[in-house]
Amino acid sequence: MSGFDFDYFVIGGGSGGVRSARIAAQHGARVGIAEERYWGGTCVNVGCVPKKLLAMAAHFSADFEDAAGFGWTVPGATHDWATLIARKDAEIGRLNGIYRKLLTGAGATMFDARAVLVDAHTIDVGGKRVTADRILVATGGWPVLPDKPGVREHAFTSNEAFHLERMPQRVVIVGGGYIAVEFAGIFHGLGAEVTLVHRGDMVLRGFDDDLRVHLATEIGKAGVNLRLGCQVEGIAKVGDALAVTLSNDEVIAADGVMYATGRKPNTAGLGLEAVGVAVDADGAITVDEHYRTSVPNIYALGDVTDRLNLTPVAIAEGHALADTLFGNKPRVPSYENVPTAVFSNPPIGTVGLTEAAAQQRYGEVDVYRAVFRPMRHTLSGREERTLMKLVVDPKTDRVLGCHMVGPDAPEIVQGLAIALTCGATKAQFDATIGIHPTAAEEFVTMRSKVERPASPGLAQ
Ligand code: FAD
Ligand code: NDP
Repeated sequence: MSGFDFDYFVIGGGSGGVRSARIAAQHGARVGIAEERYWGGTCVNVGCVPKKLLAMAAHFSADFEDAAGFGWTVPGATHDWATLIARKDAEIGRLNGIYRKLLTGAGATMFDARAVLVDAHTIDVGGKRVTADRILVATGGWPVLPDKPGVREHAFTSNEAFHLERMPQRVVIVGGGYIAVEFAGIFHGLGAEVTLVHRGDMVLRGFDDDLRVHLATEIGKAGVNLRLGCQVEGIAKVGDALAVTLSNDEVIAADGVMYATGRKPNTAGLGLEAVGVAVDADGAITVDEHYRTSVPNIYALGDVTDRLNLTPVAIAEGHALADTLFGNKPRVPSYENVPTAVFSNPPIGTVGLTEAAAQQRYGEVDVYRAVFRPMRHTLSGREERTLMKLVVDPKTDRVLGCHMVGPDAPEIVQGLAIALTCGATKAQFDATIGIHPTAAEEFVTMRSKVERPASPGLAQ
């Protein structure tokens, strides 16, 4: 047993920190963990979980409309934002409690306090000093706002979006990443007039180009106003409303402006510099492939290292580190074929390489693509289309990428991610019997290669 208070001290009770602390304690380590704000971290409190609940709430408006095509009459449905937020908060309170139980049940000592490094083995936790043999920094990230007139005074971020007293009826959302397109769907579905302003010429940089174009087309068709290739120059208060001036000189009247322009690692004021933990130009802690920082007994993982900023990745990293340090099972998770979803409306599910990345890595690739009207909309009359796409290496027949925009895409692609992890070939996809009638069966029935590279503005 070391002469320190703890074998392992974790700073940050989010996805990565909680998993790592719990598993280390289960391996028999004496574990301390500090959380300054909310147990469960971003995902549980102001991220994945409340976002998905709001996205579900938003989808009901389309469901009520679609029901008419199936013979239902839904009399004047209305939505109450305050009820939704209260119900969501109750669920999150329940989850916070579960996180506490998981940690105490495993035998970890919990501190409801901010923790700061004092030296390589000493941590100040809410004014009290504790020592630890090894320390994990898993402090996550925080939204960033560009420095433009009126932004800091008048805009809100995803942190506040989950606690707004009233839902703004006219919302401008700035950004074209995950959070921007997800909240465009949420506010639009709940009845707001939404304008999404993005500096790039297409949303979701880094995703497959067909997905990007298809999603932008669908959200535009649904009624979200898109302003691409455009920046916000400033926000001013005019009476009770906000005037949002764009770089194309347009001025949009809004009741709320949401910024979703990225997040930066939570490293300020943590004592890293004094202890000698190196960070990069964006403040992300630099680590080797085993999450070791420049100080050998201090580790970092999850969003604070700003690599793949997703909950399952932070959890996998935290678990692997605990197994390595305390379970005599040295390992790292695979970063190949990490699936991801965007809970836009319609949602995206994607795993593996985009067509462009596959071409870069493998040269010519085969592409299979299907665009169709989901069965539900043959009766609802909704003009929504689903896109499915496979990218295949013609030399080995391996499926390199599966991409989908459409209802249930995240659920469907999670299953396909297993196939890609197993190295499935297109012939094995083709040999798989479909489940009929589903949208998912299209992934095993696509037989015709696309003759030319992805075309912008897909045939609808
Ligand atoms: P976090 O979960 O951020 O945890 C860090 C914790 O450290 C926080 O609780 C913080 O309060 C605490 N902390 C910070 N400094 C200190 C300190 N000095 N002392 C004590 N405590 C401290 N990912 C998905 O996979 N799917 C999704 O659908 C999804 N949706 C998202 C939606 C939104 C709006 C956002 C913002 C993120 C979303 N993410 C999603 C990303 C996901 O939330 C993060 O990748 C994940 O939470 C990272 O986990 P982490 O442990 O690294 O950090
Ligand atoms: P993203 O990095 O996904 O997107 C940020 C967006 O803001 C980009 O479109 C970027 O444009 C734009 N942007 C950046 N700086 C500026 C600026 N100064 N002015 C105008 N636009 C700007 O970040 P998010 O905030 O959407 O989400 C943070 C991370 O959280 C995600 O990357 C993801 O890892 C995670 N997340 C995951 C979710 C999921 O799994 N479903 C959901 C939500 C978040 P450009 O493309 O030109 O750089």
